Amino acid sequence: MKFDTAYSLSLDDKLSIYDVRDLNFDETSPFDSDKDSFLCPNDECRAAFDPGNALSTFNAKNVNYQRTPHFKNKASTQHIDGCRYASTHKTATGEGDDQREENFPSEFVLTRRQYERNTPVVGTQVSVPLDPTKVPSTRTNSSHSTNDTTPDKTSVFAHPVECYVSNIDDKDTLKAMPLKIGEHTATYWAFFKKIEYLQDNKGLIYWGKIKAIKDYTSSFRIDFEKKVWLDKKPYSVNVYLSKKLIENYRKRKAFLEQIKAAVDSERALYCFFYGVTPELKQVPSKKNPEQTFGVFSANIENLDHLIIREAPGLQGH
Ligand SMILES: [Zn+2]
Repeated sequence: MKFDTAYSLSLDDKLSIYDVRDLNFDETSPFDSDKDSFLCPNDECRAAFDPGNALSTFNAKNVNYQRTPHFKNKASTQHIDGCRYASTHKTATGEGDDQREENFPSEFVLTRRQYERNTPVVGTQVSVPLDPTKVPSTRTNSSHSTNDTTPDKTSVFAHPVECYVSNIDDKDTLKAMPLKIGEHTATYWAFFKKIEYLQDNKGLIYWGKIKAIKDYTSSFRIDFEKKVWLDKKPYSVNVYLSKKLIENYRKRKAFLEQIKAAVDSERALYCFFYGVTPELKQVPSKKNPEQTFGVFSANIENLDHLIIREAPGLQGH
């Protein structure tokens, strides 16, 4: 059974596995999922056991993953009767269960979630009462939910992307699931736009197979395989990532590891981004600097809203 969320003992808060990944790679945060304990998100169930009754994580730290990250029961994990996380039975999808993100957040929040560490990270907090009636009422974090239902919002871009990628063979679901970003509400299917159709609408999540990644002095350039057609002419599409932006990024190490592996990769890679829409620009030709040619291009402004990953399921889509 996959968990959509788990209670983090060190943060005294419920996190998705994508929150956990984000925190693990964040060099400004002391968080380390290996040193934390993740417990059942059901308050009543959690209160019934001591904090040693923990869950395990899958793909919490792997920078480049293919299979859907999640929390799961250990063989020893116990739940109270009636806890919805107690079930060990496989769903109708059988083994495919693990390979699909079933928790579709209905909103992708553009500002990063803040985690307040309000208990010290020492061994003594094991005795913190896990009384559900004492669920903090002073909390102002609006994305925080005190019940055990699926969290409805995420600020980690990888989460909606994983929903799309792992469910690409289930168009009906993607067309049924709503997604809100900023003021714009659509379905997952409508929000994710193949790069070659970027002229259809602005402000979407664009994605496409990467043709090449060029490592320049002050930037990386990601070239997409597909071209955009305008007035019956094909134009290349690319996005630029400034190295200054990467240097100042709180997940710099993980990002560099990812992009450097991607530069040399022989495998099919895909790029997803949100926040900018490539526009037609005239750039000087290398061979003949007096000539210019047109290319659809954009500068990525927020690295939190860009992902480079393998996505075998997208082949042919
Ligand atoms: Zn439980």
